[in-house]
Amino acid sequence: VPVVDLTDVTKTYDLGGVVEALAGVSLTLPEGSYTAVMGPSGSGKSTLLNLIGALDTPTEGRVVVAGQDVGTATEAERAGLRGTEVGFVFQTFNLLPRLTAVENVALPLVFAGVPRDERTARARELLADVGLGDRTDHLPTELSGGQRQRVAIARALAADPALVLADEPTGNVDTETGGRVLDIFDDLHARGNTLLLVTHERHVAERAERIVHVRDGELVRVEDLGAEADD
Ligand code: ADP
Ligand code: ADP
Repeated sequence: VPVVDLTDVTKTYDLGGVVEALAGVSLTLPEGSYTAVMGPSGSGKSTLLNLIGALDTPTEGRVVVAGQDVGTATEAERAGLRGTEVGFVFQTFNLLPRLTAVENVALPLVFAGVPRDERTARARELLADVGLGDRTDHLPTELSGGQRQRVAIARALAADPALVLADEPTGNVDTETGGRVLDIFDDLHARGNTLLLVTHERHVAERAERIVHVRDGELVRVEDLGAEADD
């Protein structure tokens, strides 16, 4: 059973004029697969990610994530999906400014009902995994861009989601930090997570097993990078 299954998905935005952000997209993400999405600005990449992350619902077609139909799920069910099945890494990090690194990372576990001691321990462990074991009590403003992105990744992994989605995760960090972020994704892939990453950088996309090319809301080409990606 694939973790994600999109069938003939269309998403339109109606702001006076109608914008077709996605048109007839079908895509399957098998369990444990690593997929990159590339395409010019405005081609629908974020819209695709937002649908798979259950942040939004399709206008037409079906989006099934971890067995749940995102289009017919209630608001609460979609929030549940986001809380347990999906880890989302945003380009702009989306950390809460008044919470420390460890508090930001532990936040999804508050909603999951994990006791305080346990979630703090788990958050510290996750921060250590991304190389921030010595920054756990810093506020986001006390961290560099690259460090903030690593906090955001640790937070996305807090609830141990099967599916990790990332929107330009290397977009706002320097090359070295970007490399580190991609190494973390390689580890996740090796551990069996399903990954979907949006990027406009070819060298970033090539870390995946396959590249899905999107243009004007349509999926125009799927490039299979095959087993070379493991070398
Ligand atoms: P990308 O991520 O590839 O840059 P997006 O998915 O953000 O593309 O956008 C695809 C199209 O949908 C664009 O024309 C964009 O202007 C439009 N769009 C995206 N989100 C919204 C929104 N919330 N309201 C209206 N139009 C939107
Ligand atoms: P990165 O490659 O992780 O984005 P930078 O080159 O931006 O790192 O920063 C290098 C170092 O400077 C980091 O280790 C970080 O601790 C420190 N630093 C960067 N920006 C800030 C900031 N706004 N406040 C405090 N320390 C910062």
